[in-house]
Amino acid sequence: MSAYLRRTKIVATVGPASASPEMIARLLDEGVNVFRLNFSHGSAEGHRNQAKVIREVAEEKGRNAAILGDLQGPKIRIGDLVKDTIELIDNSLITLTIDDDKPHSETRIGVGYKALPKFVKPGDILLLDDGLMRLEVVNVSETDVECRVISGGILKSRKGLNRLGGGLSAPTITAKDELDLKLAIELELDYLAVSFPSCAADLKPVRDALNASGVKTGIIAKIERAEAVGSESTLKALIEASDGVMVARGDLGVEIGDPQLIGVQKKIIRLARLANKPVITATQMMESMINQPVPTRAEVFDVANAVLDGTDAVMLSAETASGKYPAQVVRAMAATCVGAEQHPDVRIIDREIEQTFYRIDECIALSAIYAANHLYNIGAIICLTESGNTALLMSRLGSGLPIFALSRHKNTCRKMALYRGVKSIFYDVTESGGDIYQSALDTVGQTGGLISGQRVVITCGDVSGSGGQTNHIKILQWQTKS
Ligand code: PGA
Ligand code: MN
Repeated sequence: MSAYLRRTKIVATVGPASASPEMIARLLDEGVNVFRLNFSHGSAEGHRNQAKVIREVAEEKGRNAAILGDLQGPKIRIGDLVKDTIELIDNSLITLTIDDDKPHSETRIGVGYKALPKFVKPGDILLLDDGLMRLEVVNVSETDVECRVISGGILKSRKGLNRLGGGLSAPTITAKDELDLKLAIELELDYLAVSFPSCAADLKPVRDALNASGVKTGIIAKIERAEAVGSESTLKALIEASDGVMVARGDLGVEIGDPQLIGVQKKIIRLARLANKPVITATQMMESMINQPVPTRAEVFDVANAVLDGTDAVMLSAETASGKYPAQVVRAMAATCVGAEQHPDVRIIDREIEQTFYRIDECIALSAIYAANHLYNIGAIICLTESGNTALLMSRLGSGLPIFALSRHKNTCRKMALYRGVKSIFYDVTESGGDIYQSALDTVGQTGGLISGQRVVITCGDVSGSGGQTNHIKILQWQTKS
């Protein structure tokens, strides 16, 4: 048997625990496909160097790894506390204030978000530090929001503040994001995540800037506000306006509550796949591995559940950025994905076969996957692609077969690193000289991805040089030359 290729991709956040070239190499060996640079931390110079290190190490290893920049966005936080930590005691009263003239104290805590008193009313529930602590608003004045502590804890400076049900709004692109957007363009990142968009229009400034610059960076819309999932039409439009989405469970879970999040995760993944967009499931996937060398069974099942839901990728945050076991967590996650992928539900086409297609490439992609899933002694699907679009379309459909995507563009190869089931190979079809199908087959066969005698379904287009032109399917058999 040829080696089984893991289909679900792994996004690892880079931070102090994983910044060195040695650790980047190790994480690639363990199976990381996409590295995330979190612009909420670090300097422009630091991110510049980190991107260079990732690219150099990946290049040395001949690996197509993507880089995802993540804009901080308008995350609402409390300010600096008067002490390192403050204990919030159940039933006590505290005041969140935007008035910096009167001194702050242990019960009078500053908030930089000046619109807070305008957007809250008595009875609202406010959540601190990703929902670890809960407050109920009892009184609101022009500058002060007085709250009763419902569920206390130890508070530290600059922790996040959310309202249950959402509704604390701020412009999506902050002044800091503007600078980071320029950096993302300068570095020609493969993907850029936009934080806290509430609707499709919130992506527009980023889309316009990327278009104007000519870089091919894809926009990942982080679904993390209650407003974004408030109505199906808003969510669908947001997905449509993006090049991919993230189920950003940290903030979303806090805003809508974890019990709601269970169904919402499945819905976002399903709608993203239907809209032909990749989707990342993020946050607290193997959280306990920040401090422990093995995951809990609950975490294993959480990752597996996202795989069964159809996610393209699962993401690690603090686990790889600042945890004690960055390599081990990637290994545990990869093994979990492979286990979940054996379930028969994700190996069959999850689409309406009676569908009418308006686009030829979409029709070819479905036909190829259908043929491959049902053909005896099939080893793989191969697609020749310029933009990666055919590979993306194919990877929206359930299958247990690897999709080898051959492209002569390095940036396309890196982008496809995010797509479920797709293995990108840098290959220039225009240089093969002879029959392009045979040379594509040889290229994949020589990587060890096929067993002699196995058949492959190959797709390509007439006109090499522009995307969206795929219109052929051919079936060939791989024979090792003796
Ligand atoms: P963050 O986004 O880690 O930037 O907050 C992910 C999330 O909210 O889940
Ligand atoms: Mn978030």
